[in-house]
Amino acid sequence: MQSPDEKHPVCWSCEKQPATERYVHPKLGEWVCATCLDRLEVHDAYQHQFLDMLELERQERYDEVLACIDEFLAANRHRDHDQWLARSVARDRTMVLFEAERYAEAEKAWEAWAQLGFPNVTDRWFNASVKASILQALGRHQEALAAYEEAFSHQDPRYASAIPYYLPRLVELSENLGQPVDEKWRSVAEAGAEDFAVEMPARETLGESMRALAEMTQGMPSKREREWKARQGGGAGGDAP
Ligand SMILES: [Zn+2]
Repeated sequence: MQSPDEKHPVCWSCEKQPATERYVHPKLGEWVCATCLDRLEVHDAYQHQFLDMLELERQERYDEVLACIDEFLAANRHRDHDQWLARSVARDRTMVLFEAERYAEAEKAWEAWAQLGFPNVTDRWFNASVKASILQALGRHQEALAAYEEAFSHQDPRYASAIPYYLPRLVELSENLGQPVDEKWRSVAEAGAEDFAVEMPARETLGESMRALAEMTQGMPSKREREWKARQGGGAGGDAP
């Protein structure tokens, strides 16, 4: 670990830039670069604000929630170097409008969110899951499945452990149309099972197997978690990379 007393301390967060700022949090105080300080403080402030927003949402004061979100973005946009805030705001606007059952507006907000791009495939899948919910609410079930399948066709082996969690939605969207899950998703489901070192549960239909897989892998350690644990166990006292 670098300490701020050293000549060239490295940012605690990105581990790349020189650390020039102090990030103070209730449980820690670390030296970080100016960019990371902005990101960390904006995360904290938005999370804090989120609690107020949840309370407003609970009271169904949706326009106030939206105003609150927009205000926060306007005040912090200049500190949003990686568009994390822009994406979070776009996502939350979509969710609030969906919750308010203002589906046509939710669909527009969803488009703005999707246009900001996705840092990884699970963000894309989550985004498509929300889109599918909006389209279902609008009675457009065929489009809902198509949107979800399009997003799910983007796969990345680094996120294979997230596959089982997203499978039941695929089953549900297919069933809504009265059709079985397309066989083309079997290999994707198997990749998800492999990440948890389990066999695909044998069931009557692919959809049932998928649901069973999602259930059995809940709370199980993924491949990455198992490997991390093995490294921790094997590297006692060392600083292995
Ligand atoms: Zn940094």
